[in-house]
Amino acid sequence: MSHHRVYNFGPGPAMLPKAVLEQAREELLDWQGTGMSVIEMSHRSKGFISIAEQAEADLRELLSITDDYRVLFLQGGATTQFAMVPLNLLGKNDTADYLHTGQWSGKAIKEAKRFADIHIAASSEADNFSTIPEIETWQISDNAKYLYFTSNETIGGVEFQAYPDSGGIPLVCDATSNFLSRKITLDKYGVIFAGAQKNFGPSGIAVAVVRNDLIGHAREGIPSLYDYAVHRDSNCMYNTPPTFSWYLCGLMFRWIKEQGGVQAMENMAIERSSLMYQLLDESDFYHSPVNPRYRSRMNVPFTLPNEDMEKRFLAEAKEADLVTLEGHRSVGGLRASLYNGMPIEGARALVDFMRDFEKRYG
Ligand code: PMP
Repeated sequence: MSHHRVYNFGPGPAMLPKAVLEQAREELLDWQGTGMSVIEMSHRSKGFISIAEQAEADLRELLSITDDYRVLFLQGGATTQFAMVPLNLLGKNDTADYLHTGQWSGKAIKEAKRFADIHIAASSEADNFSTIPEIETWQISDNAKYLYFTSNETIGGVEFQAYPDSGGIPLVCDATSNFLSRKITLDKYGVIFAGAQKNFGPSGIAVAVVRNDLIGHAREGIPSLYDYAVHRDSNCMYNTPPTFSWYLCGLMFRWIKEQGGVQAMENMAIERSSLMYQLLDESDFYHSPVNPRYRSRMNVPFTLPNEDMEKRFLAEAKEADLVTLEGHRSVGGLRASLYNGMPIEGARALVDFMRDFEKRYG
C-alpha cells in the first residue's frame, strides 16, 4: 500500500523515518509472536522489559554512557525536567547558574525560580535571543551547584556549537531539540535531558541521563514521581510508563545505530542545515535573523520581505508537500525544523522550492 507522505518541517512532534514507522506498523498486531501489540502488553512482561533494556543499551552505546550515569525514561515531557532538576539538585538555600538564551531557557528559569534562588549568568534577551552571549561575559557564581543551558533554542534557532565551560561545576542541559544530532562529552554533564518528539521518537516520553551521585538528594515532601531516586529504584516503572512511546524510542535508537550512530546524524544535520544557510546567505529575498556563529542545525528561522509574501510562500509550499513551515506564534516569520528524521531529500526539496519561489517573486 502506498501512502501520501509530506516533508514535515514542524518543530515537533516531528517526522520519523519511514523505516521506523513501517516497522512499528509491521509489528503492531503481533509483536514478535506474542499475539499482541506493544500497546496491549504489560510493562512488567518479559517482552516489554526486553524492549526497555534494549532501548537503554542502544542509547548507552550511541552516547557512550558509562556506569557513572543512570538513563531514565520519564513522563511529563522536557517541561517536567524544568522542575525536577532544581528539586533534585538544589537544597532550599542552594543556587544554580542559568544561561538565558531564548524562550525555552526562559521557561526553565521561571520554573526553577519557584524552588530556589536562581542566578542568570548571562542573557541574550537584549539581542532578542538572536545570539549566545560570549563566554567572557558570563558571570558564574562561586557557589552554584550547576550551570544550566539549553543546547538548542527551538524557537530562536540558536545552538551552542560546543559545550559551555562551567569551570568544573556540572552542566545541566536541556537538549530537547538537538539530542542525538551531535556528539557530546558526557563527563562534563550532571544531567542531560530531552523530550523525544523531535529527534528520537513520539511525544509522551523524555530521557534524562543523570550522574549517579546527583540522585538521592531530592527535597523533602516533593511528589514521588518528581524524585529521580524513585525512578532509579523502580527502573522507571514506579507507575505504568508510556510503553508504546518507549518502544518507538527504541526503534529510533536502533535506526540511528544502523545509519552509523550519532556521527552519521551529525553529518546529516550539517548537510541539511548547510543547504539552507547557503541559500539564506546568497539571497537578498530571504533573511536569517540569527548570528551566523550560533546558527542552529536543527531549527532555521527565516523571513521574507513582507507578511503577504510569507503567506503566499506557506500556501505554495504546502501545495508542494512542504508543510508546517510557520514560525513560532510569538516571533512570526518562517522556520524549517530539520531533525534526525528529516531526509536530506526533504531539505533539498525545500531549498529547490525556495530558489524557485525567489525567482518568481523576488
Ligand atoms: N525544551 C525545548 C528546547 C523545547 O524545544 C521544548 C518543546 N518544544 C521543550 C523544552 C518542552 O518540551 P515538552 O513539550 O516535551 O515538555
